[in-house]
Amino acid sequence: MNTTNHKPGRLFIAAFSLCLLAGTISSIAQPGNPLSPEKINAALDEAFTKFKDVKDGKNADYIKELANVDPDIFGIALVTADGQVFTKGDIESKVSIQSVSKVFTMAKVIEEQGHQAIQDKIGVDATGEVFNSIVAVERMRGKEINPLVNPGAIASTSLISGADSAAKWKNIVQVQSDFAGRPLSLNMPVYISEAGDNLRNQAIAHLLLAYGRMYFDPVQATDIYTKQCALNVNTKDLATMAATLANGGVNPVTKKKVVSPETVMYTLPVMATAGLYDDTGIWFYNSGLPAKSGVGGGLLAVCPGKFGIAVVSPPLDAAGNSVKAQLVIRYVVEKLGVNPYLIQPK
Ligand code: GLN
Repeated sequence: MNTTNHKPGRLFIAAFSLCLLAGTISSIAQPGNPLSPEKINAALDEAFTKFKDVKDGKNADYIKELANVDPDIFGIALVTADGQVFTKGDIESKVSIQSVSKVFTMAKVIEEQGHQAIQDKIGVDATGEVFNSIVAVERMRGKEINPLVNPGAIASTSLISGADSAAKWKNIVQVQSDFAGRPLSLNMPVYISEAGDNLRNQAIAHLLLAYGRMYFDPVQATDIYTKQCALNVNTKDLATMAATLANGGVNPVTKKKVVSPETVMYTLPVMATAGLYDDTGIWFYNSGLPAKSGVGGGLLAVCPGKFGIAVVSPPLDAAGNSVKAQLVIRYVVEKLGVNPYLIQPK
């Protein structure tokens, strides 16, 4: 066989494959584009330097174990919708995910039961109250309890498929892990600390039961919810979870399809309207990005179609949101010019 005769053909195939490959590589973080790796790295570096010495805020301490977490943990991670990872600072230290988990359990319920189920069985209007408000439940007689604050989140957990508590827990760990791109494990001291002291959440679950808005045993639902909040994550995990939403439900690092684009479409607006509790309006006004915080000190935000970003820094403000995380993400969004509401006229 005369190989030389085949060379042009091979060259053509090689060139053709390269073109195909180039076509499949998204231009999200290519040099020369507004979101080039250089620009992303510079924005993260600047934000880190600018805010690393901020000492405002205080660790949550109503869950006793959270008061013992190192307040100086400070990590930033940005994962693009095509799976490029940018980090700065401490991205190894883990904190409990807390309320950030509420997003992914809600997304799973939407995936399993359709978006109408969340609207009909929980409600999607913001309560305008603190995240563990009993008054919010009472005032609305169990309606409009919102999946991103404790009452709606415990109801969400109770709606997750699974014949018993163990099956529901397995389902929740699976979906949180799929979003993060690695198996997440339980922070046992945090779980034990909160489980021994969560009478308020149990009261909320029972009040919901009284209003016909609890869809599983209230004690067990509260326990699964408490465990879900005690899953350990680092900054990169949170950024990957956000990037999976930014990429329409496919984890851009593992390439696994976690939820559908339609599920993401219904998840992001709830984050936009209730992700930072009663300070969501201030957050959204200043960043334009759907986001979610947790009292463990994690905060993630989604730039749809572009990237997910997360920061871990435990000291919180009065509303329960990480002080440094808000400063960093707002800075990066402004620096990169990625507020979706920044519209250049034609
Ligand atoms: N597990 C916490 C609670 O139920 C979660 C609260 C939060 O992160 N805002 O109080």
